[in-house]
Amino acid sequence: MTESVHLNRRGVLFVLSSPSGAGKTTISRMMLDADSDIALSISATTRPPRPGEVDGVHYHFVDTERFKEMAADGEFLEWAHVFGHRYGTPRAPVEALLAAGKDVLFDIDWQGAQQLYQEAGPDVVRVFVLPPTMEELERRLRSRGTDSDEVIAARMERAANEISHWDGYDYVLINDDVDGCFDEVRAILRAERLKRRRQIGLIGFARDLIRAVPDADKKL
Ligand code: 5GP
Repeated sequence: MTESVHLNRRGVLFVLSSPSGAGKTTISRMMLDADSDIALSISATTRPPRPGEVDGVHYHFVDTERFKEMAADGEFLEWAHVFGHRYGTPRAPVEALLAAGKDVLFDIDWQGAQQLYQEAGPDVVRVFVLPPTMEELERRLRSRGTDSDEVIAARMERAANEISHWDGYDYVLINDDVDGCFDEVRAILRAERLKRRRQIGLIGFARDLIRAVPDADKKL
């Protein structure tokens, strides 16, 4: 039996965006549980923690002054204002994950997806998750039970705005069934990992295959 071949490849910067309530957080969690080769980028934010959120796990919770310092020092790969707070992707952990051969998952909004694409271009894969209907989105937001009517109304408005940026993404999925949507997200990641330009180990691998045939490379 031949040994399985493991080639070096460039990591994927996998962006998952959606209006809040469309299921992106659930899908992110499912991906991280199912696949140890992808790790989550933990954002910094000036928003206060919600009940159950843990500093360093869900976000790095920082005050505005600290956030501004980090931005001025170039510590963010991207950052944006969302719902009146600042959110940003710390650069160093992403670089460390990529250097360790991992893919990185980003739960960021359309502004972040756009900036990340400007920074890292073809290494970025942008996936947008749509809710099946706006009624369903509102139902999901209300079922969390954490936000007031006013906040829900603001989130619905924000959702409509977020959805208007659907065409800035490489893939757009409709989450009417979370397991089906998760399968689609995994299929995208699997195919993106196989893209030739990410498989940097292929050059040497193909060369060695050709060289294994005596004199074949001289005739090419
Ligand atoms: P929430 O406050 O509900 O956790 O997140 C609000 C929005 O901010 C979500 O759409 C989320 O994807 C986005 N977000 C979270 N972290 C970042 C980040 O680092 N950068 C950007 N641009 N958006 C983020």
